[in-house]
Amino acid sequence: PIRTRFAPSPTGFLHIGGARTALFCLLAARATGGEFVLRIEDTDRERSTDASVQAILDGMAWLGLEHDEGPFYQSQRQERYREVIDQLLEAGLAYRCYCSRERLEALRVAAMAAGEKPRYDGHCRDRKDVPEGVEPVIRFRNPDEGTVVFEDRVRGRIEIANSELDDLVIARGDGTPTYNFAVVVDDLDMNISLVIRGDDHINNTPRQINLYHALGAEPPEFAHVPMILGDDGQRLSKRHGAVGVMAWREQGYLPDAMVNYLARLGWSHGDQEVFSRRQLVDLFRIEDVNRKASRFDTEKLKWLNQHYLREGDRDQAVSELAWHMERAGLNSAAGPQLTDLLAVQAERFDTVVELVEQSRSFYAEFEAFDAGAAKKHLRPVAAEPLRALLQRLQGLSEWSPERLQAAVQETADALEIGFGKIGMPLRVALMGHGQSPAIDQTLWLVGRDRSLARIERALA
Ligand code: GLU
Repeated sequence: PIRTRFAPSPTGFLHIGGARTALFCLLAARATGGEFVLRIEDTDRERSTDASVQAILDGMAWLGLEHDEGPFYQSQRQERYREVIDQLLEAGLAYRCYCSRERLEALRVAAMAAGEKPRYDGHCRDRKDVPEGVEPVIRFRNPDEGTVVFEDRVRGRIEIANSELDDLVIARGDGTPTYNFAVVVDDLDMNISLVIRGDDHINNTPRQINLYHALGAEPPEFAHVPMILGDDGQRLSKRHGAVGVMAWREQGYLPDAMVNYLARLGWSHGDQEVFSRRQLVDLFRIEDVNRKASRFDTEKLKWLNQHYLREGDRDQAVSELAWHMERAGLNSAAGPQLTDLLAVQAERFDTVVELVEQSRSFYAEFEAFDAGAAKKHLRPVAAEPLRALLQRLQGLSEWSPERLQAAVQETADALEIGFGKIGMPLRVALMGHGQSPAIDQTLWLVGRDRSLARIERALA
């Protein structure tokens, strides 16, 4: 079975890109009955915050991306890193480098001037003297010869000559390990067999592979997934709108829709668009991830959201609905059951936010009639049908959509007017504005007492 890990650096919220990586990791592991490990890469103490650890955990929990092990924290593994660094130093596979910033800068400038890639020249490799007052960094002695080759499960075969790589800093002057080193020790200790990550790390991989070999270990397999672009073809960023997963929640998207959408962002299975979580686990193969970058398409996400709102897991939709009601300052207990609201309204909106906004009048009194709607529909001619309907409704023994539909129809028939002549004024009377579901459903959701009182109010 495959073991994967998601290894975010806690320097912000959970991004769309990170969430997709986490999802791919989870799917790749679950497909083989393996484990998905969560590791928080918080070695950069200056940029890492507890709030962002929490934001990442919250984002994953909301999406339902449950890890099987962890979260492990790199900040709690410092001793282990030191131990491995000592091991490498002792074996002569790493060395202390005392080069000053100025010297390294001069190397860089010289390389640039010569049109070459800046590389550390190995100056301290066999240095015998120990300069005073300098906290050395530790460098890995990268092999000089040979080629690093690996079969990336998404990108295919990748080869890099060791002559292209220089001696990687594995620990800083203060003794803390760098990303490239800690990640190798962790992936080894945690028995990770497949590393899935963004392809911004692809240049790190050959260096990491050399480290595995130096530690006498076989490297895991790698799969580098391409980046996500905005609708203009540029790398997805704030300019394109929400990039944090929870911002999409705030805009009224459902976890199942997000997960389905993220899975399809760079992965496909024929032309199928809608996948249950179960199907994703069954069908996902990391090899089927596209090599090319994919574009974030809000319209498609909206379409999926509408699908899940209408046909997806009811418990999930209800719980999101409750969350949004509270945010909108509405009391769910002061109106129809959320399941009933959903049954009527789900097909009418793309997001939970729109649904809640257009459902206010089912839960709270409205202050005034929408001026335009009132002017158009609550004219004196509307009074007669409304009054006639009010009488009929007062006499109803059962407040069901069927009975309500019949009552409106019978009122219209008795007055020999079209259904619309009574439907529109009634809508405005009940909702305060002209947008609502079918009139029988509207009456049903508003409920008996409120409906009667509101019709009376409109007549007053
Ligand atoms: N902490 C790294 C990041 O967030 C993880 C890279 C990796 O998965 O190796 O980019």
